[in-house]
Amino acid sequence: MNRLYHDSEDWVAQGNCRSYDPEIFFPVSTTGIGQADTEQAVAVCRSCTVRQECLRWALRAGEAHGVWGGTTPEERRYMRLELAPAS
Ligand code: SF4
Repeated sequence: MNRLYHDSEDWVAQGNCRSYDPEIFFPVSTTGIGQADTEQAVAVCRSCTVRQECLRWALRAGEAHGVWGGTTPEERRYMRLELAPAS
């Protein structure tokens, strides 16, 4: 999926997603027409041995699109809010 941008990250080569169509990791939406792809991508991530590394990378990078570390963009936005220091 993200191999074009993140080959410099060691964990990328171990991702389960290397064996799947990259399109499912970048669905057009997380509900409606893109829901089936989103669910399939999240299921692939669930058993991925580098899921934590992938999620950490996506949170650090502020990745706004696609399924990373088993999370949707909406879930990561929520996680970033939860992790942000209280002002
Ligand atoms: S957690 Fe998901 S997106 Fe990340 S490397 Fe694994 S399969 Fe790919």
